[in-house]
Amino acid sequence: MARRKKVYEGKAKILYEGPEPGTLVQYFKDDATAFNAEKKDVIEGKGVLNNRLSEFFMNGLNAVGVPTHFLKRLNMREQLIRSCEIIPLEVIVRNVAAGTMSKRLGIPEGERLPRPIIEFCLKDDNLGDPLVAEEHIIAFGWASQQDLDDMIALALRVNDFMCGVMYGVGIRLVDFKIEIGRVWEGDFQRLVIADEISPDSCRLWDIETNEKLDKDVFRRDLGSLTDAYTEVARRLGVMPANSAPLGKPTLVN
Ligand code: 5GP
Repeated sequence: MARRKKVYEGKAKILYEGPEPGTLVQYFKDDATAFNAEKKDVIEGKGVLNNRLSEFFMNGLNAVGVPTHFLKRLNMREQLIRSCEIIPLEVIVRNVAAGTMSKRLGIPEGERLPRPIIEFCLKDDNLGDPLVAEEHIIAFGWASQQDLDDMIALALRVNDFMCGVMYGVGIRLVDFKIEIGRVWEGDFQRLVIADEISPDSCRLWDIETNEKLDKDVFRRDLGSLTDAYTEVARRLGVMPANSAPLGKPTLVN
């Protein structure tokens, strides 16, 4: 079999040419990075868990009519996705103050926000993904006003879906980052949720204990990252194929 052509390699994933035009294969690595790759490690099994968890969230979003790039999972580490043109912005949705918002604005971590707050960061590692205003986005042509309106609407729908799913298994969705891509259909473009949705890109806290079940475990040296992600997968009934059989989501009282 011919070697596949690598299209792009990022910090946590590799994209290969897909089997058909307009498709790509997204491979989840075990590499973990934080603070713009200043902190790095290889965490065995992380890629397998994120592949399964991202499949779970993207499938759910597709099912409730929020379009995503996800087509199907191929194996333990790979999924087939629609190729799209990634808008060079990270879209962050926050329900509870944490991370850079707490640092920047002095709002104590854990304080519930009056409403979901959306932030945009420019995807640029050399600049450390800086926070940008809508004015910058329009003025520099990173997205149009129509794109921005659509991105905000999509991000809020993802937030509602994710908050509900996580609340059902006793987890608070503190915040998350998504990426959005353009898919062209003839002369028309459609926006879809792209990249991944996993504990790498969300803050997830146990509702009862505030235990962190996300990448902050790695960023802040709080214990085993795979244990945290496995716990999220277990509660959602999403387990790697070679471990316990798939179960139903566990409702937490
Ligand atoms: P913060 O701005 O507080 O660092 O991050 C807000 C949320 O977005 C967190 O859930 C964090 O995991 C996610 N996030 C922000 N930037 C990135 C990034 O470059 N990569 C990933 N995977 N997640 C990010």
